[in-house]
Amino acid sequence: MPFGYLVLIFLASFLIDFDHYTNAVIKNKHLSLKKAFDYHKKKREEELMDISKGIRKKGDFHLFHTIEFHAAIGILGLIWSGFFYIFIGMLFHSLLDVSSLLFTGVFHRREYFFFNYARKKLRRN
Ligand SMILES: [Zn+2]
Repeated sequence: MPFGYLVLIFLASFLIDFDHYTNAVIKNKHLSLKKAFDYHKKKREEELMDISKGIRKKGDFHLFHTIEFHAAIGILGLIWSGFFYIFIGMLFHSLLDVSSLLFTGVFHRREYFFFNYARKKLRRN
């Protein structure tokens, strides 16, 4: 396997979390990485509080972590093989995410399907 493909797998395995940062930037209206970390720390505390009260609600929506986004990148892999290796990195990341969510008892917090999110969003507006 060419070295470039390994680099793509490596980069995709953590750059997929860029959607966490963009969520924080949108909520904070600021590009600061420190503020983004603070935002997520606060969200984690709210999440733990909700769970202790038995409240099971979804967290922020993460586009790059949806099944549809994974599928789109996988399909683009048929056009350019680089996307296939990006898909592998994303899949590796997502499998670790899902196992972490399961083991920490917060599997319900994430929306895994873009179309579910879009449908709920349209209903609310
Ligand atoms: Zn993630």
